[in-house]
Amino acid sequence: MTAGLGFATRQIHAGAIVDAEAGARVTPIYQSAGYVFDSFDDGVERFAGRSRRRAYSRNDNPTNVVAGSRIADLEGGVDGVLVASGQAAIAMALAALAQAGDHILTTDRLYEGTREMLRGALRRQGLEFEALPIETDEDAWVAAVRPQTRAIYAESIANPLGEVADLALLGRVSARTGVPLVVDNTVATPYLCRPFEHGAAIVIHSTSKWLSGHGSVIGGAIVDGGTFDWGAAAARFPHLHERRPGGVASFVERCGPAAYAAYLRAVVVLEHGPSFPPTSAFLLLHGIETLSLRMERHVANALAVADALRAHPAISRVHYPGAGDGQEAIVARLLPDGAGSIVSIDLAGGRDAARTFLDRLRLISQMTHIGDVRTLAIHTGSTIHGKLDEQERLDLGITPGLVRISVGLEQADDIVADLLRALDGVSP
Ligand SMILES: *Cc1c(COP(=O)(O)O)cnc(C)c1O
Repeated sequence: MTAGLGFATRQIHAGAIVDAEAGARVTPIYQSAGYVFDSFDDGVERFAGRSRRRAYSRNDNPTNVVAGSRIADLEGGVDGVLVASGQAAIAMALAALAQAGDHILTTDRLYEGTREMLRGALRRQGLEFEALPIETDEDAWVAAVRPQTRAIYAESIANPLGEVADLALLGRVSARTGVPLVVDNTVATPYLCRPFEHGAAIVIHSTSKWLSGHGSVIGGAIVDGGTFDWGAAAARFPHLHERRPGGVASFVERCGPAAYAAYLRAVVVLEHGPSFPPTSAFLLLHGIETLSLRMERHVANALAVADALRAHPAISRVHYPGAGDGQEAIVARLLPDGAGSIVSIDLAGGRDAARTFLDRLRLISQMTHIGDVRTLAIHTGSTIHGKLDEQERLDLGITPGLVRISVGLEQADDIVADLLRALDGVSP
């Protein structure tokens, strides 16, 4: 229905349903655990996966389906599955690809929650991980792929320092090796970057951030791009090709390009159960409807903040993708409409300067979260990265004076004034 329409139209209409009972224009909250079978035989068909009709809201709820398909539409994918958080989205996306003994390649610039999961829960489950420097060249990536490698994993814009992954290069590595590229597109959002256009197979979001935008709900999404050749990669992913119990055709036979999303919904999410509340999907949809407008303003405000802080004597470095960090060419290719709204600053005075600065903020909240309408700031070294030792932090670029600022949608002048006033108390 929305094919050929612009982003601003699709963010409002894609996937929307008109409720059959009352004709409600806004997608209702289907707050129901289950769905009545038409008959005994209909129940059998639904459970066997031979009916498109739903059975249970753990993995299949109508409000969630609208939100999932809207995100898929904006990304240019074929299907989107919603789960309880961004963290759950990463766990489920990988669980649908890999099992004990398998290997996953990542860049070395990842959200700390993802690193914690890879080094913690997933390693305990028997998966192996290897992080390559984000600037690794194409042949070295290809050489690092093993027969057991099940995914290449990257963030389009890394949280918190804004390193940008060369998705086109990673897409070529994926094409050469038959290993799907999985991209966490949370910080960029589909308005600023669409990883499927660069060769990604699967896109992940923490919908808690800019997609919702209001800071009221936790959620995650996994989008299937529909372009990965699962047939050519059958040796790595036999679970998508095996016939199901009861003689049901395989996911690839039944669902073609959307086989991965179908497997994710019908097997992985069903078995693990990280359900996304339909009330959250309702709020998420309200956020998505204004995504393009918000992202334009987020980017404008972030640029205003970066410009205002760059020359400040208390600040040794301002991190914003493509602004004096040597990433200009790749940012121009990947993020032509802006590089998001995280601005991180290195305070020359280290941790003490960060404490003084953060405690002097009035409008801006000290908080762990990003992509909110409100501007938020945090000293990641003593919170998010607080469990690491000093050398590990430095290896990740987390200096003692690093403060991450998620620039919100307040009046730019007011954000800048609060930052500059707080910096007045920080000695250079
Ligand atoms: C916040 C975040 C996540 C985790 O999402 P939650 O919704 O908090 O579980 C994953 N990736 C990135 C890049 C994030 O910023």
